[in-house]
Amino acid sequence: MARDPYFDILFEPVKIGPVTTKNRFYQVPHSCSMGAAMPNTTAAMRGMKAEGGWGVVNTGLCSIHPTSDDLPYPYTRNWDEDDIKVNALMADKVHEHGALAGMELWHGGHQVSNLYSRENPLAAYSRTSATPDPIQSAIMDKSDIKRVRQWYVDAAIRAKTSGFDIIYVYATHNYVFVPFLSSKQNNRSDEYGGSTKNRVRLLRETIEETKNAVGDRCAVAVRFCADDGIIVDGKVQVEAEEQKEMMGLIADLPDLWDIGISSWSHEMGSSRFVKEAALEDYISYVKSITSKPVVSVGRFTSPNTMVSQVKRGIMDLIGAARPSIADPFLPKKIEEGREEDIRECIGCNMCFAHNWRCVPLSCTQNPTMGEEWRRNWHPEKIDPKKSDDTILIVGAGPAGMEAAMSLGKRGYHVLLSETERELGGRVIKESKLPTLSEWNRVAEYRSTQLKKLTNVETYPGSHLKAEDILEFNFPHVVLATGAFWRYDDFGFWNAQPTAKLTAKDKVFTPDDIIKGNMPTGRVMIFDDDHYYMGSVMAEKLIENGCQVDFVTTLNSSASWSECTAEHDMTQARLMKLGVNFIMAKTLKAFDGSKAILDCNYTGQKQEIAVDALLMVTCRIPNDALYHELVSQPEALSKAGIKSLVRIGDCLAPSTIARAVYAGHKFAREFDEPISGEVTFKREKQFLGI
Ligand code: ADP
Ligand code: SF4
Repeated sequence: MARDPYFDILFEPVKIGPVTTKNRFYQVPHSCSMGAAMPNTTAAMRGMKAEGGWGVVNTGLCSIHPTSDDLPYPYTRNWDEDDIKVNALMADKVHEHGALAGMELWHGGHQVSNLYSRENPLAAYSRTSATPDPIQSAIMDKSDIKRVRQWYVDAAIRAKTSGFDIIYVYATHNYVFVPFLSSKQNNRSDEYGGSTKNRVRLLRETIEETKNAVGDRCAVAVRFCADDGIIVDGKVQVEAEEQKEMMGLIADLPDLWDIGISSWSHEMGSSRFVKEAALEDYISYVKSITSKPVVSVGRFTSPNTMVSQVKRGIMDLIGAARPSIADPFLPKKIEEGREEDIRECIGCNMCFAHNWRCVPLSCTQNPTMGEEWRRNWHPEKIDPKKSDDTILIVGAGPAGMEAAMSLGKRGYHVLLSETERELGGRVIKESKLPTLSEWNRVAEYRSTQLKKLTNVETYPGSHLKAEDILEFNFPHVVLATGAFWRYDDFGFWNAQPTAKLTAKDKVFTPDDIIKGNMPTGRVMIFDDDHYYMGSVMAEKLIENGCQVDFVTTLNSSASWSECTAEHDMTQARLMKLGVNFIMAKTLKAFDGSKAILDCNYTGQKQEIAVDALLMVTCRIPNDALYHELVSQPEALSKAGIKSLVRIGDCLAPSTIARAVYAGHKFAREFDEPISGEVTFKREKQFLGI
């Protein structure tokens, strides 16, 4: 299919200094937590995006010197000659598909603790590290400033030798340049402090020296923020007088401006709080200041929005991190007129959670992310079937749908049955809860794909019992029947249910609320899950006129959502809605009119009058059907059933990402012999120098 001519503008080449990108699709630098220890994994992951049509593919943070050491967060490294060959792996992979490779050279300033290198962090001032370890930076004197500039130049030369085409000077997110640039942070009395010209001096010198060193063949990009870093009532303000003034002094010095905003959690805000193209109000002035190309982000998945951004002069290049993770082939799909095949990012920030937890990148929508090298998984290709066996899948949640779709793409004949009238399982139900509407895309994408597969039959509204399954004559049966929330207090904190809950009719779970079985009056949420469900439930109850007490066993509410950069916004939203937070308490009893809590530190008891209790603790696999079937080996054999397996929440209740992954892995490995071996390649460390 040919692409819609309306999207032609997205495929125009753009000149960036001495290099030219073939189109406007630009994978901005983003962390992948694969780091220096996993160069093959990184190269294959970035190379896949180039194969998928991105015109520019960048590294994530690439440290220029041991004084910029981010461990335990894994980062790419460019410290000396030994790193040239390692980093060339990625540049080569990206070049194989005609894309440009960019390296985000980075010095962390006071933000790092240098726990690995044990060097002193260096910054414009002496300030505590952002980790926050009780470690302070040393104040950079003139010779330190000179050294940092030289490290930039040396690293840029090595990047060029590795084959990179675009070299970044990273001047935002509070790393080394920001305390120099900011009038609020810079109190130096030398020529690097005071006037705007002085505060910009270090950045200007670094850009100039980097350009002098590599500018004959490489473009020099500057990552900069558009706002003045003022946050009022939880919202980044559009004020930007200081940034405009600074940018004005060096407007045409870089070859490219990569513009974001100062707050990470707003810049890559989750879809619960931040929608597509949300940076426009902040960045729209930048193109009026510079004649150089501008790139920015906005979780762009709609080609129409992308065209609009370019046509209205907001940006020249469509920057993407998450959309390129969820669908490395997004540009190719637009190019081929297959927009409906785009696997749209749902904005869950599970990718970022992996960075936060210091483990390789993973994605809810794209189960192949991070598996390109070690398992040789391709997001758009899958091996053809090895037999004519047919497969019955029971349950069309993310696990069942992904398994059906991927087996279908392999050519297998699959029957997918689902109790509910709509396919999607938990994502369909949860996406109807406050703030979660975009999660629906997990089901939408797979429904669209399933409709195209004539070898996959879907039966919504079809609840299967054990006797139905035995009658069907499918040699392979996969149960993807999901899980239920528990009514008791067994969870993260309690290894056994201990709370005395006597008024069972007034105890609810998220499944009740989703079904519309709502409590009334004052409701206590007991959250021992610590992710999004407790806070989403609080909002739903408040919508329905309830008053909410939010009890958590930990020291802060929804604490795991720190990993998805949602915690602060969640907390602010619930505070504004009038939720009463009670931290570090365990539920001991509820009798229908009052709840008794224990302080986790002192054991002191607290009694609170509430009308109902909503337990958000832990889930129980919905595996009764599985146990009923395995208890009848003779019937299974008579029915010709060769394999019976559970996947997704029905086996191990977890995140949506894990359920999709389980479905995908099952489909890939369905006809592989089961082995006890490690089934993926590992990056090998060699002894010796
Ligand atoms: P997962 O996240 O593992 O995919 P979900 O809970 O999202 O799990 O989806 C499980 C789906 O299985 C639900 O939509 C549920 O209605 C469906 N289901 C459960 N039992 C049966 C059954 N016996 N027959 C058909 N569908 C079922
Ligand atoms: Fe998007 Fe979620 Fe995938 Fe991240 S994990 S790219 S937010 S779908």
